Amino acid sequence: MSDYHNATTEQWLQWDKDHIWHPYSSMLNPVEMIPVVSAKGVRLTLADGTELIDGMSSWWSAIHGYNHPALNAAATAQLSDMSHVMFGGITHPAAATLGKRLVDLTPAALTKVFISDSGSVAVEVAIKMALQYWYSIGKQHKTRLLALRNGYHGDTFGAMATCDPVTGMHHLFNKVLPSHIFVESPRTAFGDTASDADMAAITTALKEHHQELAAVIVEPIVQGAGGMKFYSGDYLRRLRALCDEYDVLLIHDEIATGFGRTGKLFACEHAEISPDIMCLGKALTGGYLSLAATLCSDRIAEGICNGEAGVFMHGPTFMGNPLACSIANASIDLLLASDWQANIQRIESILREELSHAAPLSSVANVRCLGAIGVIELKDNVDMTSIQARFIDKGIWMRPFGKLVYTMPPYIIGDQDLTQLCRSIVAAVAEEE
Ligand code: PMP
Repeated sequence: MSDYHNATTEQWLQWDKDHIWHPYSSMLNPVEMIPVVSAKGVRLTLADGTELIDGMSSWWSAIHGYNHPALNAAATAQLSDMSHVMFGGITHPAAATLGKRLVDLTPAALTKVFISDSGSVAVEVAIKMALQYWYSIGKQHKTRLLALRNGYHGDTFGAMATCDPVTGMHHLFNKVLPSHIFVESPRTAFGDTASDADMAAITTALKEHHQELAAVIVEPIVQGAGGMKFYSGDYLRRLRALCDEYDVLLIHDEIATGFGRTGKLFACEHAEISPDIMCLGKALTGGYLSLAATLCSDRIAEGICNGEAGVFMHGPTFMGNPLACSIANASIDLLLASDWQANIQRIESILREELSHAAPLSSVANVRCLGAIGVIELKDNVDMTSIQARFIDKGIWMRPFGKLVYTMPPYIIGDQDLTQLCRSIVAAVAEEE
């Protein structure tokens, strides 16, 4: 019988290796995991006491760093009231307050909020809202989605079907996924006027398919897992106009970009537009707990609620979890109480300055930064094991994939730590040549 509560690091690492799936991992050929036992501020502490500066914000989410006193206090206060209660027929102040705040912060057209428990589910909810809307108003033929190549919207079935069907992570499921329509992702860079070629591709697709299209779904401004590409706000603006012209709903997946990461509170603000449906997640709770939200307009809510079912057909067990909602409220308080725009600009200028030193390296194809996101795109795929060992040697936590070495640090990172993070990244990339 194992002594579960007094396991040595070697023991629990072995249990992990034997039994636990990690994201996109092999159980037969497991890679060595980095054992983290605590985290505070921008530092992760490993089992042997080593500290690493976190360059990932646990995948866009830990914007205030780890173990933040204000978020801890919100969690403790909510725990002493209740950590969870069902949401069917019951409500509570944490969810109601969060809903009101999200409506107040996002574009004015978004007035109704569905609170779920992960980014992928927020996307499922968005797709179901669009489909149930058209069904409810008698346009049952509008069942398909239009998405961008290199897009990524999550790992559940509805979301997978909107990810790039060729280069994306889910192509082996293509045969059982609903078939949607895909358009080349915009090549026009952030800040530029959308090119004729980009607009022609999306216009043609909308013109040809609008009668069967329920919605267009995009990650605004930043295509994340599909290549960390930054694209034109003008393209987004014109896509909004096309959706109106062809009567197709527009879904923005702001799960990665929401809450300031691109320099605006929400990336749609770069284009000064509103989607019909917006998905939020990741940084919503400052990375403390899994929580997500899907917002929609009155038009969609009215269409659904005046329709055959009269209700929206979704209701997960942990919907509106009070603990997560309270932490989300505290996380939004923290963000808004800070001079977050100036702070993101500070981070962006350090990222630009420091990561530019990688540009002359022969292995580097491109260096790009936007807000608190820095990307070094290599000419060839990285050797993950080798480069990760270098990062850890240099005291930083990074998780590159494919040709991309990218960082999205916690917003609380100080100049000195950020400079050290960037210099370590550039040095590791240089040593890999
Ligand atoms: N959409 C985007 C743009 C994302 O980056 C992610 C997560 N990487 C998701 C959806 C899915 O969110 P989750 O992992 O919380 O299900």
